[in-house]
Formats: sequence, structure tokens, C-alpha cells
Amino acid sequence: MYRIPFNIPPYAGTEMDMLREAVEVNHKISGDGPFTKKCKEWFEAKTGTASCLLTTSGTDALEMASHLSAVEPGDEVIMPSYTFVSTANAFVLRGAVPVFVDIRPDTMNIDETKIEDAITEKTKAIAVVHYAGVSCEMDTIMDIAKRHNLMVIEDAAQGVMAWYKGKALGTFGDYGCYSFHETKNYSMGEGGAILIRDPEKITEAEILREKGTNRSLYYRGQVDKYSWVSFGSSFLQSELNAAYLWAQLQIADTINETRLARWNQYYELLKPLQDAGKIELPTIPKGCEHNAHMFYIKTADIEERQRLIAALGEKQILAVFHYVPLHSSQAGQRYGRFHGEDVYTTKESERLLRLPMYYSLTEDNVSEVAEAVTAFYR
Ligand SMILES: *Cc1c(COP(=O)(O)O)cnc(C)c1O
Repeated sequence: MYRIPFNIPPYAGTEMDMLREAVEVNHKISGDGPFTKKCKEWFEAKTGTASCLLTTSGTDALEMASHLSAVEPGDEVIMPSYTFVSTANAFVLRGAVPVFVDIRPDTMNIDETKIEDAITEKTKAIAVVHYAGVSCEMDTIMDIAKRHNLMVIEDAAQGVMAWYKGKALGTFGDYGCYSFHETKNYSMGEGGAILIRDPEKITEAEILREKGTNRSLYYRGQVDKYSWVSFGSSFLQSELNAAYLWAQLQIADTINETRLARWNQYYELLKPLQDAGKIELPTIPKGCEHNAHMFYIKTADIEERQRLIAALGEKQILAVFHYVPLHSSQAGQRYGRFHGEDVYTTKESERLLRLPMYYSLTEDNVSEVAEAVTAFYR
């Protein structure tokens, strides 16, 4: 156990009341009960999306997006290599080929200026990842997609309650995918959601999520029989998970503001190290309102990062890194390819170190971590 762990799952304090209500009052613990409906409507109102369907995970939201995009074997999907495996897996499961392009060093997001060159006759979609809750350059990306008639899927797993030019992440592309894993800003243990931009796609998505049946239409009285109408799976999460999440949505702004305050405190305390040329801090481009999903620093290189992790560990502070770029992984080499030159993906991923960041992290904790980092460089 670390004195300051890397993550503590968000806990608003009323989760147990909500769970009790689901079990003892609503008598509803499987999918699509009153709490699921409340969460769904909350996100629809907050983001302005046509529909938000809660899912078993962010991974499953991405898988739904892949099915709904109807990518076929041999189709290509352009994405960054610096991301979680689920961004690629979702498309690989349908036989599509991930085409990785380089990232921008300032945000670690896909470099929008490298996308167009990677487009071929087989390109079907662009899958962007809003790393650390900081938006990709969506104006440029949506323009490219429109000109080449490509679908856009947003992996907004880290982008809940974050915005680009005033618009919620996850609402630009055809589909946006959220995660409510315990490491994310709002959590239900394991869970996620898919945002659907086009109202005409909602029914198809509901059928896919409900084992290929038209159960949602049946419950709304829009059809008089409930039957198997298409291929599908069970992408809907337990009502218990939604009850847990609902507690946090009640204080969504407080959670966001608290995280941002801790993030800003880290930034102020570590800025002298950046000014002295020792480390680099994250960049938030103009127009991006982030959600303080993560606070990272960049060390000189992988060796210095290892020493810093060890030094923090001695003080009972856990700092972690990720991701191993997908194009250098075993599966990434088998299923995908890198287009263009890897100028930043590998180099920057080896320098990045994530510091503890969670809702219950205190100001004192942040001071202590920042002091430990500063002491390392002294
Ligand atoms: C967390 C995460 C996912 C997966 O979400 P799960 O809910 O854990 O399945 C996908 N992509 C990114 C970028 C993530 O950070």
C-alpha cells in the first residue's frame, strides 16, 4: 500500500443510498431501470447528444461504435498508436486494419496534420482519442472526415465533462465513447456509454445493445412483439452500476472543480522545474476545456523516469506510466501498421509519467508529491 496511491475510485458518499434504493425500493437490478434512465437523460441534457446509451464498459461502447460503423474486413481505421488497446481492438474484432499515425508532442493526441496522408481507398473511419481529457483538434478532423466521407469515432473514455470550443467531447463524431471504469473521473466500477449523434441510428444501436432484439421499442409501445431482429450482444450494464454512477452525477461539477483545482496546483508547484528546463508540463490548447483527468510530467528520458518512479516510491507515492505504443506491441504488429514516421509516439511515451490524481486527493497530498518531484531534481 502506498501512502499516496495513484488512484482512489471516485466516491461521492451517497452511492450506498442509491444502491439500496435500486435493490429495496425499485426492485430492479438488471439493465435499463430507473437509475440507468436518469444517467442517460443527464448525459443527453449535459452534452446535447441525440442519445446516450450506458454500456458494460468503455471497451464495449467502442465495440458498439465499430459495429454501428459497419467497418468490414480489410477496411482501414486511422488512429493514434499512443492509446489504450480498446481503441484498436474494437475495429480489429471486425477484421479492420488499424492504421496508426503519429501524435502531437504537446497534447499526446493524434496529429491532425498527419491524417490526410494516411487515407487510402480502404479508409473507412478515423478514431480519435482525447488523451487526458484534452480535446483533439476537432475542427480540422471533422473537416477531413467530411471531405473524404469518413466516419469519426471519438474515444472520449477520458473526456467526460470536457469541451472543445464549448461543445462536449464525444458529440462531434458519429459516435462518442465514454468510460466509467474506476480509474476515470466518474465511475460505476466497470461501465461506459456510447453517444449517438444521428437520431436515425438510435434504434439500430438499441437493438445491437439488447441482444439483437427490439426490446426497447417494445417497452415504449412502438411495436407489439419483442423479437430477434438483427445481430447483437448484451452491451447493457447492471442497474446497480448506474445507481453507483448516479450518486456522482449529483456532484459532477464539484468533482470536476476539485480535480481542476488539484491539477492547477500541481501545475503551479511544478512550473519552476519546467522553467529550469528539467521537466515538461502538459499543454492545454486554446479552445479546450479539459477535465483534469490526469496530471503528467515529462522527464528527460525513460531512464530518468525510472529513477523518479523509484524515488517517489521510496516516499510511498505511486506514479505510473502508459501506454506501450500499439504499433510496437505484438498484436499491433499483427493487425495494424504505422503510416509515416514515428517522430513522437515512442519518444514521448517513454518520457511521460502520471502523478496521483483522484477526486479525494487533498491539497496537502499534491504539495507533498510536487515537493518529492522537486527534491528529485534538486
Ligand atoms: C479507459 C479507457 C478505455 C476503456 O474503458 P473501459 O471502461 O476500461 O473498458 C478506452 N480507451 C481509453 C483511451 C481509455 O482511457
